[in-house]
Amino acid sequence: MLAIGIMRIEKEIFMIKGYMGKFLWVDLNTGKIEVEIPDENLYRDFIGGYGIGSRILYNRMKAGAEPLGPENILGILTGPLTGTPTISGARYAAVAKSPVTGGWGDANSGGYFGPHLKFAGYDAVFFTGISEKPVYLLIDNGKAELKNADHLWGMNAYDTEETLEAEYSPMAKVICIGPAGEKLAYIACILTHKGDAAGRAGMGAVMGSKRLKAIVARGDMEVPVADIERANELRKEHTEGLRSTGFLERFHKYGTGGHGDMSAHSGDTPVKNWGGVGVIDTPDVSGLHRDKVIANLDKRTGCWHCPAACKGLLKEGKGLYKYPAGNHRLEYETIGAFGANCANTNLESIEMASHLCNYYGMDTISTGTIIAFAMECYENGIIDKTDTDGIELTWGNHTALVAMIEKMGKREGFGDILVDGVKIAAGKIGKGAEQYAVHIGGQEVGMHDPRIASHQFAGMPSPAMYWLSPTPGRHTQSFGPPSFINNLNNAMGVCIIIFDQPLPKGPVAPKMMAAVTGLDRSMEELLQAGERIGNMRHAFNLREGLNPLKHYIHGRIVGRPPLKEGPLADVSPDLEAEGWWYLGALDWDRVTAIPSKKKLLALGLNDIADELYPRGEKP
Ligand code: SF4
Repeated sequence: MLAIGIMRIEKEIFMIKGYMGKFLWVDLNTGKIEVEIPDENLYRDFIGGYGIGSRILYNRMKAGAEPLGPENILGILTGPLTGTPTISGARYAAVAKSPVTGGWGDANSGGYFGPHLKFAGYDAVFFTGISEKPVYLLIDNGKAELKNADHLWGMNAYDTEETLEAEYSPMAKVICIGPAGEKLAYIACILTHKGDAAGRAGMGAVMGSKRLKAIVARGDMEVPVADIERANELRKEHTEGLRSTGFLERFHKYGTGGHGDMSAHSGDTPVKNWGGVGVIDTPDVSGLHRDKVIANLDKRTGCWHCPAACKGLLKEGKGLYKYPAGNHRLEYETIGAFGANCANTNLESIEMASHLCNYYGMDTISTGTIIAFAMECYENGIIDKTDTDGIELTWGNHTALVAMIEKMGKREGFGDILVDGVKIAAGKIGKGAEQYAVHIGGQEVGMHDPRIASHQFAGMPSPAMYWLSPTPGRHTQSFGPPSFINNLNNAMGVCIIIFDQPLPKGPVAPKMMAAVTGLDRSMEELLQAGERIGNMRHAFNLREGLNPLKHYIHGRIVGRPPLKEGPLADVSPDLEAEGWWYLGALDWDRVTAIPSKKKLLALGLNDIADELYPRGEKP
């Protein structure tokens, strides 16, 4: 049976490297802050990120906790490769019970905060309770203090970050929420670097519910690395491998935003709220061409120590959309959500939409999907101008799109109806609006149409992967055995875009994990940890009474009814058959989705097995 982290603050010697060996626990009810030194087995078996997060939350949170109540625990976690020579070791994960799905919630982000949380002395920080007044947490070279955030409450995410970084510079890095998180919008995200978002599952709303405006991390501690020479050598080898395949150059230039036009026509990007066909509904996608995505670029940037530096900052917007200088260059998901899915090919409006989402602290995938939903309701007479504060939400109306995002960010007028997501908005609007609310289990879906996965592209999330994931509708998550690598990457604290690129000398994970942690484990052993983490996240959902086979999934996502024209015409994948296969491969029951006892024991999840199979019930 796996040992679970317990409070043992007297312990000094920590054998596994790559970790700072400490968690912070912050009780926002009382203001009490404690340091926990976790058991090494927790690191060994759950690696980090949402792996450790799922184990901790399962153990220390009661089932049925209100997502926006004091019993929910918000965790911010790094991985063993975060802040080390590893390429893309820059990520942190946010975990909590999700207000969006009512089950396991997580989101993650790059930028600079993850490494700096470790440099400040901690692998993770957990928050319980609700503060009486707005606060932020300052972690300064090992010391932690809750500070009054009255002057920050109501402030946008850019100004919040700037104010705190100025106060605690040099080397202070910040994650924060914007006004949307303060107002508990379910689509609120956690932001850093003025545009890197832990966007999904309502993590910004959970942070807002705790009246926690920000976390500041500052420190100059070194992350212990078992074999620093080998780690540096592997970084060099990894960089050369990525360069030899052309990935670095290609990705540096356009990032993920280089294929918005092609994806709008190939069937990859959903069109007109998942009901349209790109080549018919947006015949001219030249406005989304990759050269336009970099046309207003001021400088290139990226996450901490990443040689791809796939991000960029724009110059001040001109013409109709005057966004400020420093607005992040567009990512693919944002282009898809505010572009083809809203029948909009005006790139400047999408840049403005992206800026507003970062400014107010809202997830761009959900925000774009909500606008598309509202446009379809408007076009079908379910809502009109009297409902929408005079805004004409017709397909492709980009000025209306931008105006409505402002209202959502302020939770004002019709924006207040929309800002908790399409499922809740449809319930409030009524009159048949539910038919246009495209979501899985409450979560708006990533901008890779899974119908194409069953049709053309292997590697894209398939319909059942979207449907059955512990956090449904996520294009970065997957399900079944293919999800083990995603779980591992998240837990290690790396970026899946770059870390998973095929390399001439094979996968870097086992070599780098050995160099950093000092534990020599094969890829199979690491993937087993990924499987363990997947089962742990799933166990959290089972305890909340969620069976993924019962997740609502909108018919359009799986071609029910199928499109009549375009590249996805007549594509109607067999969702249940695919799910049946994956459940078997996981050794989960194909009706209840409960993992077999044998599988749980093989993964060392004995306590979960005891709970799911009481009184010695046979698997
Ligand atoms: S590839 Fe891009 S998103 Fe990934 S770590 Fe590098 S800069 Fe960040």
